Amino acid sequence: MNPMRKPLLNILLRTLYPKAGAAFSEALSWEYLSADELHQRQTARLCKLLQHCIQNVPYYRNYPVVNEAALSRPFSLETFRAIPPLTKDIIRSNYDAFVSDDAQKRRPYRNTSGGSSGRPLVFLQDRAHYETNVVANKLYSNYLAGKALGQNEVALWGSDIDIRKNSEGVSNSLRNLFYNRVFINCFELTNDKLYDICRAINRHRPTLIWSYVEVLDVLSRFITTHGIEVQSPRVIISTAGTLHKHIRARTQAVFGCPVLNQYGSREVGTVAIECERHEGLHTFPWTHYVEVVDGRLLLTALTNYSMPLLRYDIGDFAQPISSPQCSCGRNTLGFRSIEGRTIEFFRNENGDLVSGQALVHALYFRDFIEKFQIVQEEYGALRVRLVTRDIHKFESQRIDIESKFRELMGCAVAVEWDIVDDIPASGSGKFLYTRCKIRDRFV
Ligand SMILES: [Zn+2]
Repeated sequence: MNPMRKPLLNILLRTLYPKAGAAFSEALSWEYLSADELHQRQTARLCKLLQHCIQNVPYYRNYPVVNEAALSRPFSLETFRAIPPLTKDIIRSNYDAFVSDDAQKRRPYRNTSGGSSGRPLVFLQDRAHYETNVVANKLYSNYLAGKALGQNEVALWGSDIDIRKNSEGVSNSLRNLFYNRVFINCFELTNDKLYDICRAINRHRPTLIWSYVEVLDVLSRFITTHGIEVQSPRVIISTAGTLHKHIRARTQAVFGCPVLNQYGSREVGTVAIECERHEGLHTFPWTHYVEVVDGRLLLTALTNYSMPLLRYDIGDFAQPISSPQCSCGRNTLGFRSIEGRTIEFFRNENGDLVSGQALVHALYFRDFIEKFQIVQEEYGALRVRLVTRDIHKFESQRIDIESKFRELMGCAVAVEWDIVDDIPASGSGKFLYTRCKIRDRFV
């Protein structure tokens, strides 16, 4: 690293995010605490948030279970867990009641969910939440992945909203300077764009590549197909989607470095990231209370007071973990893996949920596939959009794929194939491998 960068970084950190430096230091002072100590400190923060909810937030003020949890002495997590999960529909129907009476003094800003699983939701978030949660946890995630402050990164992003936010204007230039980051818009991935990305990686030789999982998948296939030489970064962070095993394996082989899974959302910021041991995802008890209940992920950000959301049901499924202990020495593992967005579950002929990942598995190890998307619009039918480089090979394996789909979805399922030149990303910029449009029936 250029030694001149360090003082500049500190100035940028203090100017752009005055509270983030202290919050990052705090994360470092918490991360190796015992499970008991972490639990105590985390529940103290949760208790403080609950007090705020019953005093200042109309939705919670007269809500008996929330009052019971907030007033329990000693604080009882059991009473907290009695609060019903908060769905997006509840927030939509009661938006104003979730806004804290003292929101204005917290310099709140508006944020929206990505909308990949339905209509976007608008949220109000404290300026302090942005600095102590969103920014500090990004710094912490980078540190945990092995990127020190000031080392460079290439960000391969694919959301139109984030792209506009991150690639224009003076403050964004400063932000990219702070993260020592080259930001590449991957909203559309043409061959020219993929060559550009490879050239950018070879030119900048980043310590870290931070990318949408879908971009990694397309990019690593492209690099393999075209035999391109690329620089190995120290590490790759995959985010904003399910990191399927085959994508991780191919990306690690192509780039010759570990690929770590990160999970987060606009609603609550970065929630968790793997370390190189891959034993599960490390959560951040200093800023979040994370639960897995019946496979569903419930999230409570401990830092947002303008519009606090208790036990927010984000619509993702996670595999629970038996112990927070990781062999890296931290006691912060929260869940083993994200099972996939709600939208990635299909319905078989009996109405049962079928993981989209299981359908994706039926397409593993078929090198004629460049891109695909499996869509269910109605019961008993699947539509598969396919970009292929070898139509004859596809024809020879088509029956085999269809029989695997039928094993999962029922023997009467009709499979329709659309052979196309390209598959565009969704409106939010995320490329969805699997889309189920039978939304009203989801549990
Ligand atoms: Zn670990």
